[in-house]
Amino acid sequence: MARIQESKLRKIVRYAYRNVSLYRKRFDEAHIKPESIRSLDDLAKVPFTVKTDLRDNYPLGLLAVPANRLYCLYASSGTTGKPIVVAYTRRDLDRWARLMGRTLDATGVRKGDIIQNMYGYGLFTGGLGIHYGARALGATVVPASSGNTKRQLMLMKDLQTTVVTCTPSYMVYLIEASKAEGYDAKTDLTLKIGIFGAEPWSEEARKRIQDAFGLRAYDIFGMSELYGPGVGIECEQQDGLHVWEDEFLTETINPSTGEVVEPGKEGELVFTMLSREAMPLLRYRSRDLSTLYEEECTCGRYHNRIKRIKGRSDDMLIIGGVNVFPSQVEHVLMNIRDLGDQYQIIVSHKELDRLGIKVEVPANRLNDVNLMKRIRDDLFAVLSIHVEVELVEWGTLPRSEVGKALRVVDLRPKE
Ligand code: AMP
Ligand code: ZN
Repeated sequence: MARIQESKLRKIVRYAYRNVSLYRKRFDEAHIKPESIRSLDDLAKVPFTVKTDLRDNYPLGLLAVPANRLYCLYASSGTTGKPIVVAYTRRDLDRWARLMGRTLDATGVRKGDIIQNMYGYGLFTGGLGIHYGARALGATVVPASSGNTKRQLMLMKDLQTTVVTCTPSYMVYLIEASKAEGYDAKTDLTLKIGIFGAEPWSEEARKRIQDAFGLRAYDIFGMSELYGPGVGIECEQQDGLHVWEDEFLTETINPSTGEVVEPGKEGELVFTMLSREAMPLLRYRSRDLSTLYEEECTCGRYHNRIKRIKGRSDDMLIIGGVNVFPSQVEHVLMNIRDLGDQYQIIVSHKELDRLGIKVEVPANRLNDVNLMKRIRDDLFAVLSIHVEVELVEWGTLPRSEVGKALRVVDLRPKE
């Protein structure tokens, strides 16, 4: 593995330097020659890439290939109104599909399985990522996409779905919803495997899902910047996620100092993509906190494992799998006249994650339905999720006089 990684690393560093001006600039500023990155030990010399680099170079400033070689483009939410755009050549897409096939395979999915894919199809990489993986593996995919719970359950029963893929919060919701719709989750349905990710979840949620549906639930991790889902997956041991290290060279760093922490210690995950053509990413800071460890796994795979993602070192909220930065909400609100400066973001959970906003307005606008609708629509346009809006009177929201404003109230149960 180390040999594969080193030879790919040498190549990708030279490739990124030659073809992406940001990398050329960063290397030159740090007085590093790409040829001096020869072994895995040299990796720590390579400058980090961060999410704002992608945003600052919106939409396609980090391309390493001419635009006419792009096979597709995805966009994921960024911290302002503008998303982050991720680009794939045909080779990138093929590689991602193969990695996704390998990812599904690690959980025991086989040809003949019927995969009901309830991740959203569209700009979110979850939907098509699983879809391509199913094709690579030769399993049967049902591109159900997200939402429409009644139809999901009907298809699950009638098509005798064996594998489901969706956010863990949606699967927990399906426990109740299937009961309410009159299904016996164990005898009416034939689920064997569930693959859940895009947001943090817990052992407790795994237990509840497995008990209710009689399936085995696996954690899948990824992010749009790194192709999408399929960076890491639990194997049948359900004990940590194998990271596909022949493609994603993985380090953990101390998020405050940037120093590499040794395996077994918690830190921020940093990934170097070893063969991305359209948009190479070197030492990409994920902001996700986890622990990388090097123990052998009884499954026999020699890809190192990471523990469940513990949380993020930035303020990004994940609401039902959708990324929301508080700054996006602020950006929208501040662009609407007549709103006060004070607002509060309330995240709660009733069956599903919910996002609510309280915002201050003058007394005569408190019942202004048009204003409320405008706020809802503008937020939806940026976040792609429904927000419950409440108008409150000037001066009623808590002000913080010291330190950072406490704008986010997260009422979701911490498991
Ligand atoms: P996106 O760019 O929409 O694909 O979102 C990527 C982010 O979702 C990651 O950086 C993580 O913060 C979060 N995420 C994805 N998969 C998981 C998972 N299995 N557990 C916890 N967080 C996850
Ligand atoms: Zn394993």
